[in-house]
Amino acid sequence: MAKLTVKDLKSAGKRVLVRVDYNVPMEEKDGQMVVTDVTRIKETLPTLELLIAQGARIILAAHMGRPKGQREPSMSLRPVAVKLAELINRPVAFVDDCIGEKVEKTVGLLKDGDILLLENTRYYNEEEANDTVFAEKLARVADLYVNDAFGAAHRAHASTEGVARIIAQRGGKCAAGLLMERELKFLGDELDKPVRPFVVILGGAKVSDKIKVIDRLLEKADTILIGGAMAYTFRLAQGYKVGKSLVEADKVDIAKSALAKAQAKGVKFLLPTDDVVATPVKTDKLDKKGKPVIEFQNPRVSADMNCPDDAAGLDVGPATAKAYADVIASAKTILWNGPMGLFENKAFAAGTNAVAQAVVEATQKNGAKSIIGGGDSVKALNKAGLGGQVTFMSTGGGASLEYLEGQELPGLAALSEKCCCSC
Ligand code: AMP
Repeated sequence: MAKLTVKDLKSAGKRVLVRVDYNVPMEEKDGQMVVTDVTRIKETLPTLELLIAQGARIILAAHMGRPKGQREPSMSLRPVAVKLAELINRPVAFVDDCIGEKVEKTVGLLKDGDILLLENTRYYNEEEANDTVFAEKLARVADLYVNDAFGAAHRAHASTEGVARIIAQRGGKCAAGLLMERELKFLGDELDKPVRPFVVILGGAKVSDKIKVIDRLLEKADTILIGGAMAYTFRLAQGYKVGKSLVEADKVDIAKSALAKAQAKGVKFLLPTDDVVATPVKTDKLDKKGKPVIEFQNPRVSADMNCPDDAAGLDVGPATAKAYADVIASAKTILWNGPMGLFENKAFAAGTNAVAQAVVEATQKNGAKSIIGGGDSVKALNKAGLGGQVTFMSTGGGASLEYLEGQELPGLAALSEKCCCSC
């Protein structure tokens, strides 16, 4: 059954607790934290504008970073309130707590259409523990609940799950926001009965992270294109040498069974036929986490399925990129999750960029529906300046993967079902 959405709510004069994903990148400038990427804030504006038009009193709850229950000043949401006010062109009040007397008093002063942003919910350990008492304190200030934080919906936390359950028990409606609705439409409905050919591109670091998605999509896809480090686990499964490439040697059986399933189902399952390899060398420098920085020397194209012993495979090669682009050009529905290589390093970004370009062209020229499953593929598209040119880019990394796997997202499960009566 479909979930209730914010469009179904009658929120005039009601206090609506809206869970948003404002876990935005911030940087210190002149001693102050400032928001450096407003994408996630902008994504919530349609929901907020609809609630304002309905005459709701809006209370926004969100998390920022991983303060582990401490009041870490660099993870305060105050700068987000400033940015939101600018973007929505109206005042946004802020309270330096998310529960308690101060919050209750401020909410009591809200008028219809007003917006209040609460402080980081993760300043309390009870948030991630989905503590009932904490969730009750959050629920105390709300009549209705809206979840527009798709990126956090795979977590059963107090502000994503517990609070919704409590408000629903009291008879309050709990609805999906417009962003959440869009995510479910593209990652769910559109891929349920895709227009064919349906081409899936999967990359990234680990087979283990994506095997459930691969398994599920083998039921629906016409072609699956594999890139990234996970290709080397498949190579290992086919008996080739992988040198110093990033692999999961203990996941070879999983890779073998995916290959067998693809064959049994008649799904074209393409692996790279050439690679960009380089020799990793440890340097004396340390990265931010204190780990030695690895330099990749002598990057070169290799068409040998056996990777040289001293080298690592770091990108798909030009022949693979061309072959994948040709398959993408024939697609009517495209799902892409995970880069084709170590795209953060320019020397190994060509494969990912070629796929990004091909996805954009298929969308713009052939009218293909292109859905980007969040995380690094979105970063890669944006880095190539192609962000706005696909059909849909998910805002959720982990959440989009879990949804594509067919798992129930706790933040979604807690929302009210649509009913036939007038809510
Ligand atoms: P994931 O989160 O699983 O999508 O993985 C994304 C990460 O995998 C990115 O940081 C990429 O740099 C990395 N990655 C992709 N391909 C390779 C590769 N061949 N070798 C090392 N890292 C890779």
